[in-house]
Parts: sequence; C-alpha cells; structure tokens
Amino acid sequence: MKIARVESFHVDWGGGSPSAWVRIWTDDGRYGLGESSPMAGGNASLEIVAHQFAPLLIGADPLDHAVIQERLFYTHVKTGPDGAFAGALAAVDLALWDLTGKILGQPIYKLLGGAWRTDLPFYASIGGNARRSPEEVCRVVETWLPLNPALIKIRLDADRTARDADIEGDLARIRAVRRLVGDSFPLAFDANNGYSVQGAIRVGRALEELGCAWFEEPVNHLHMDSFEKVAGALDIAVAAGEQEYTLQGIRRLIDAGVDIVQPDIVKTGGFTGLREMAALAKAHGVDLVPHQTQPTVGHTANLHFVAALAFSHYPCEWNDPSGRQNVVFARPVFPADGLFSLSTAPGLGLEIVEERLTERMRLWKTGG
Ligand code: CA
Repeated sequence: MKIARVESFHVDWGGGSPSAWVRIWTDDGRYGLGESSPMAGGNASLEIVAHQFAPLLIGADPLDHAVIQERLFYTHVKTGPDGAFAGALAAVDLALWDLTGKILGQPIYKLLGGAWRTDLPFYASIGGNARRSPEEVCRVVETWLPLNPALIKIRLDADRTARDADIEGDLARIRAVRRLVGDSFPLAFDANNGYSVQGAIRVGRALEELGCAWFEEPVNHLHMDSFEKVAGALDIAVAAGEQEYTLQGIRRLIDAGVDIVQPDIVKTGGFTGLREMAALAKAHGVDLVPHQTQPTVGHTANLHFVAALAFSHYPCEWNDPSGRQNVVFARPVFPADGLFSLSTAPGLGLEIVEERLTERMRLWKTGG
C-alpha cells in the first residue's frame, strides 16, 4: 500500500478564516485527514505541504509515519522549524495516523497504547476579554455554564504590542468571574503574553488569592528569562507552550520552571511530535495540558491524544465554538453533560459527508 495523492485545501465554513486541511489518499482508495494551524488561513502550511512535502509523500508507505516525519523535517528544515512549517508537519502526521488507524481498523487512542478515558471533560476557553467590561465578561461566561465545563479559562487576547496595558481592569475582570461562579469553581487566567515581569507577578499573586488553577503566558513568549523570574516568584502554576513548535522549545520552558506545558497538536508535529513532548514533560514531572483552539480535525485528534495520556488531570481545551467545527462531518463533535466522547471507529473516527465537503473545499494551488 502506498500514498497515491495528497490534497491540501481550505474548508470554507462561511465565517472568518477558513480551516486548513490535508487529505492523504492511498492507492487502494483510503484516506486520512489532517489539519494545520489555521493562523492566516494556514496558507503557508498548505503551500509547504503541496509544494515541498507532497513529492516526498507520494509512493511512501503510510504506516511509516514516524520515518516520514523525520524525512520531511530534515529535508526541508530550512523552511522552519517553527511556525507554518511545524503546522504543515502536523497536518501530514495527523492524516497519516488517521490513515494508519483505518488500515489497522483501530481508533488512534488504541494505536497510542490504549485509552485511560474515552469520555473527556473540557474547559471553556473564552477569548477576547480585554475588550469587555467585567460585566460583559460575566455575561459571556454565563452562556458557557449550561455546557458544564470542568474549568473556565479567561483569555485576554489584548494588543500584543502593548504591555501592562490595563492591570486594574484585568484584575476586575477575573474577580468578577470568581464572584459569578463561586469560590470553588476551577478558573484559569491567560494573559496572552501581555505583562512585564513585575506586572505578571502582581497579577499572579492576585490569581493565587482567587484560587486560580494556572496563570498562562504571563510574559512575552520569547523571553525565557522572564518566565523563569515569574515562575520562581509565584506559587500558582505557570503555563505556556502554545507558541513552541519543537521538542527543544518545550525543553526551554521546562528549564525555565514552567509548571504546565501546552504544546498544540496542530502546531507541533501531530501525534508524533506531541508524544515526544509528553515523554519529556513526564520525565521532568511537569504537567502537559495540550493547547487546542483550532477546532475540526485538530480538536478530535487532541481528544485521542489526551485519552491515551497518563497523569492527565486537567480537562481538554475547547475554544469559542463556531460554525467551523462541524460543517462537513456526518456526526457533530459536541460535548454532552460536559464530556466529549470518543467512539471505537477506526482512525480519528470522523466521517465526512462528501457532498458537503465538495461544496466547501477550496483546493490549494501551488505556484511551484
Ligand atoms: Ca493561550
């Protein structure tokens, strides 16, 4: 069995930026689905897959996915190793694991060694709060509560070129949410890299008083020394990792004293990359709680990964739901009673309605 065709395409869901998907076909008519990080439409990742990766994939055995990933990485490493390049690797890797599961007739969590759980609690990842008043933040949180999230994370998503822009306002927002949900409800706070070291320590101490579970990306993601100072000064768990793309990047965060690492399956080489990061985190006794704000294929891939992850005591991230998630799937991926459930269907277990995909697929045309 060989890889016969590689499709790189957008899925236009009728809203904002499209999803960036890869579909890899074998010569006996099976396919696997993958997704890259859709930042800026995932355009650069789709270009890398279509132009640089596809020629190396055609003719390969899809079961050789780990060999394929190393070959793709080192053949084209000068395009990366971070950012869109890692997103392209991830899309291919997810598609090859999906395909492998279909060939072997097993869900991916079985290929990973088995599931500790197939019903997975989620946390509500609520973005855009820097632009809301405390009352407005609470109104948005209220819309999530009927879905029974296991934790609520308040993300600021403030201007990335500003720093310490509204610390008083930020504290007012998280205090309002604490009052709304009560003292015992699990909360987390995501600064999206918005603070100086001193600002972060001030906010972090307030978060400790409010009993928050973690403090995410307090400082500029490029400044490892700043992470070290903040993590060293605070008792609250400091989290980061969504802007790291390599095993070495995650190691730098662990070396800086970050307590929770958050690599993302659509940015870090898919299952193959994330497994290595999980082993690294395990070796250091650091929690790995994957970032996952890009719904559709990546969301379900992340569920499979977390299903098979030992020592996983935090819920899975679920980002602001949109029409993006289920536009072409036969069975919507949606939580019931606060849980996402994985089936025993092979691969990712996602079934596409081909007519719907045909309507929404925008094939990527490489210029090369
Ligand atoms: Ca984040």
